[in-house]
Amino acid sequence: MAAQDARLRREVATCSRMLVDSGILNYSGHVSARVPGTDLLIIQRSHDVRATLAPERLLLVDLDGTPIAHDGEPPSEVFIHTEVYRARPDAGAVAHFHHDPTTVFSVVDDVPLVPVKNHAARWADGIPVHPDPSHVDNPRKGQDVARTLGTRHALLLRGHGEVIVAADVRALYADVVHFVENAGALALAARMGTVKGLSGDELARFLATFKREKHARKVWKYATAPAAHRGLVPAGWVLDQEAGGTATSGAAPFAAS
Ligand SMILES: [Zn+2]
Repeated sequence: MAAQDARLRREVATCSRMLVDSGILNYSGHVSARVPGTDLLIIQRSHDVRATLAPERLLLVDLDGTPIAHDGEPPSEVFIHTEVYRARPDAGAVAHFHHDPTTVFSVVDDVPLVPVKNHAARWADGIPVHPDPSHVDNPRKGQDVARTLGTRHALLLRGHGEVIVAADVRALYADVVHFVENAGALALAARMGTVKGLSGDELARFLATFKREKHARKVWKYATAPAAHRGLVPAGWVLDQEAGGTATSGAAPFAAS
């Protein structure tokens, strides 16, 4: 249990640091993970710097947003996380961030955020826009967000940001990357002409042979190896993950530069 807890904390910290490096998290936004089999989540302290997040400083928080056995204050928008976990037993990891090039799709009627890349098949059942742009800083607002999300895996908060839901941190990281990639590709396509998003049939064809778990491991490996090489995260964290079942021996190709 202690080893599992330590690994989960490192994954949340690693994911956060890499998303800062990608310009997706900055002075705000946060990643959380549910402790498997519980109604507890791991999330950062409100004012800890995302780029240097330390596993041991992450808070263990209940579904009311109250820290367990730690002093410290969770982010004011912790209720996005708590209420999504409460409503969605399948949710094992949640990210909330404020990525302007993606958020703008919540305020443009002419170009809805539709799948234009194959990995956006994850959101084939739609990406709802939550109408309230204010901070989700109490349980009622969190419940409203969870209601808008429903059974889907992502939503836009109008004029505010994004919420992404996945089964675990590694899948979450891949989803966040693909979510902003899709938004970027769509913005480029919309400048070129009329957008013809991928159809339901096309997305189903992609999903028919897509191995989600294998892909998540691949994306995580190819992000964590260079991150460790660059000192973005301690190499020991990546080695620990290797022991946990996701080989990161691919670090070698990044070692010489
Ligand atoms: Zn926010």
